[in-house]
Amino acid sequence: MHSLRGGVQGGSAVNPLYWHLHHDELFEEVIGSIEERVAYIRSNKPARQVETRLRLMKPVRFDTPKLREAFAKWMEADAKWTEAAAKWKEAGAKWTEADAKWTEADAKWKEAGAKWKEAGAKWMEADAKWKEAVASDHARQCPDCPWDGKTIFPEAKR
Ligand SMILES: [Zn+2]
Repeated sequence: MHSLRGGVQGGSAVNPLYWHLHHDELFEEVIGSIEERVAYIRSNKPARQVETRLRLMKPVRFDTPKLREAFAKWMEADAKWTEAAAKWKEAGAKWTEADAKWTEADAKWKEAGAKWKEAGAKWMEADAKWKEAVASDHARQCPDCPWDGKTIFPEAKR
């Protein structure tokens, strides 16, 4: 059974439902006109099938409360299911988009982290050379200096 494309209208479909519009369907919603379907059957179906097809092809009568109520509930559930499916699809698209952004941001974060680590190593190297240069130039430029790394009055601490 395919889904009904019409909407709810007083507990029945917008388009009428017919029994056996096609030989392999119990019932279907008529899209277009029933006259077109009848004309098509008369001119395209094997002659021996025409009488059976036309005899069984008749409107579904919503003349029992059971059928009317079940159909109204089905239409309502079908509308909700269609709406939920659309929201699920929309949320899925947003998730895919967010996931792609996350992946991109994660790659940038890792790349920036690697550069930070590399810059840190270069800083350590430059800092060590700078300290070594300061120490050797201090020794050369400042002979007889009592500087012990913290004070020029090391004896005052003792
Ligand atoms: Zn000095």
